[in-house]
Amino acid sequence: MDIRIVNVRKEFDRYPALHGVSLDIHSGELIALLGPSGSGKTTLLRLIAGLERPTEGAIYFGDEDASHLDVQERNVGFVFQSYALFKHMTVADNIGFGLTVRPRATRPPSAEIRKRASDLLDLVQLSGLEKRFPSQLSGGQRQRVALARALAIEPRVLLLDEPFGALDAKVRRELRHWLRELHERTGHTTVFVTHDQEEALELADRVVVMSQGRIEQVGTPDEIYDRPVSPFVFSFIGEACELPVTIAGRRISFDGAPIDIENTAVADGPARLMIRPNGVEVVTARPDAIAGEVVAVRRSGGWRRVELEVGTGKHRIEVELPVDAVAELAGRLHFLPRHWQVFPAG
Ligand code: ADP
Ligand code: MG
Repeated sequence: MDIRIVNVRKEFDRYPALHGVSLDIHSGELIALLGPSGSGKTTLLRLIAGLERPTEGAIYFGDEDASHLDVQERNVGFVFQSYALFKHMTVADNIGFGLTVRPRATRPPSAEIRKRASDLLDLVQLSGLEKRFPSQLSGGQRQRVALARALAIEPRVLLLDEPFGALDAKVRRELRHWLRELHERTGHTTVFVTHDQEEALELADRVVVMSQGRIEQVGTPDEIYDRPVSPFVFSFIGEACELPVTIAGRRISFDGAPIDIENTAVADGPARLMIRPNGVEVVTARPDAIAGEVVAVRRSGGWRRVELEVGTGKHRIEVELPVDAVAELAGRLHFLPRHWQVFPAG
């Protein structure tokens, strides 16, 4: 099911939570809405579900204008971070719930509901746990049951709002891989909300980066990571350091001296050079590299984190270097950015 969001604005008591958002979601893709808290992710998801109405704009399911349809008519499956299972119901009854509450005309016979619950338990790899109660499951198992429950109604689209947010890091990573595999097998159109950039980049076919009620960028994980369109995306999607530079044609100068990297994006004048700490290369002293005084060195996993003071402005930046690269350092090092981008200042 393709979903098309066209110029959707949403206000709560005159306060705009979304400003004219447009987005095409392709049938069968897993798309992540990524952004800091308050950026409008949940609001956009609730609008797709039909739990909220747009103040302006429209939402299409396929060719059909779904803006006027209610939640049931849209036939969406939901999983929330805190959408607890029904405590007094078994796992099988929880999964079948959405079918048992259907009007008699569309309700499958109870034997078929039981069969479907058991098939879905196989799918989420919890076979045999039909008779358990939610209190007898781990957090990760409960979220898998919640996903089976969402799938039971054969939704046209699956909407997941930080479904693993309450779980610890290791379980989250396991469920992330598991969800990706499940998605590849079932091929549901899925919209996944997260504020965790690693989760979004690992899981999604495409990532929608949101900030303050607007979409900043839509792209594949590679596009978002390697070619962020704004300083916000650059620093939200991974670690970032920044230096003030001056652009003149293709030349990028820091502290009055041109650096051996080439500008193709930004007009002449002051600009912001953004660098990933793991995207620098140490070079032997030369005038077209950036020089920094080593302020501190820390071990970080297989790398060393080196804090540098750079230029006459003594800008503090942090770079990540191979362990042996730092052994030879004596107070001062020269480096060239390898993973970087320039943006206009201001
Ligand atoms: P996110 O999910 O990215 O954290 P939300 O979509 O929940 O962001 O919220 C976006 C903005 O809209 C926030 O400023 C939030 O306070 C506001 N908001 C969300 N829901 C409501 C509501 N029901 N009433 C008033 N303001 C709301
Ligand atoms: Mg939210």
